[in-house]
Amino acid sequence: MKQVLKYLLFGFLGLLLIAVLFIGSVFYRAKVGLSIYESDPPMLPAEMKDFSVLLFSKTNGFPHTEAIEAAIPAFEKMAEKNDWTLYTTNNGAVFNPAQLAKFDVVLWSNATGRNLTDEQREAFKTYIENGGGFVGIHGAGDASHHWDWYYENLIGAHFSHHSLNPQIQEGTINLECDSINNYLCLGLPTSTKRADEWYVFTDNPRNNGFTVLYTLDESNLTMNGNIPILINDKDFGMGADHPIVWYKCLPNDARTFYSAMGHTGASFSETNYLDILERGIKWAGKTIGDCQ
Ligand SMILES: [Zn+2]
Repeated sequence: MKQVLKYLLFGFLGLLLIAVLFIGSVFYRAKVGLSIYESDPPMLPAEMKDFSVLLFSKTNGFPHTEAIEAAIPAFEKMAEKNDWTLYTTNNGAVFNPAQLAKFDVVLWSNATGRNLTDEQREAFKTYIENGGGFVGIHGAGDASHHWDWYYENLIGAHFSHHSLNPQIQEGTINLECDSINNYLCLGLPTSTKRADEWYVFTDNPRNNGFTVLYTLDESNLTMNGNIPILINDKDFGMGADHPIVWYKCLPNDARTFYSAMGHTGASFSETNYLDILERGIKWAGKTIGDCQ
């Protein structure tokens, strides 16, 4: 009997150790991040079409593996339909002036962490300052990037936490379309219900000069992001005005578009959600809509 209890105890302690190590590694990667960098640029296709998108999903922070993998074929299909070149890489060395200049839009699909060197960051900043286009999805707006310029210019809000209790909830998002001449929003679903892990931000992007495309109706959601023992100050949402997709025109007709949605792989087979992203890519690449 004693022997059995001993085995049970060791078994329990072993499982506990595995759980602690797993949670510790997830936390480390999300909060501190990895330091993996590339220095050899990839070979781009010899022929690029008139409209080219760079799909980048490098994760030196939290890896949204399921969403990243589901997004790639969805964007490939979108590119084929629209006759775009879609070039997919997680090689940060593509962030150099000559190669970035070949793209109309740089798309960060759940790219997280400090994923570029200082030199690569500088090339990306110059690309935007010269009128480039950016689209960020979900994790691209979390708190892991540690880059003030990126938050201030491309994201426009600071991430606080996400829903955890439960993590994935079905919520309603509502369109804000300010004008019948706004081809970014014209024809998009006015209201749609979808399941996601909902991000909460400490500041509202409206106050930082961004225009909101969709807000999240929080009224039947639980925005609590507390983790027992570890985190106890994240039981709040954004209230009546909870932006969830927004955009901004930057100097030189550069454009940035961010959607806080896209945690799940299933997001990338939702027609409504893909319509929103497609519109965002076209707008960021200046094929639709103006920047007044
Ligand atoms: Zn997520």
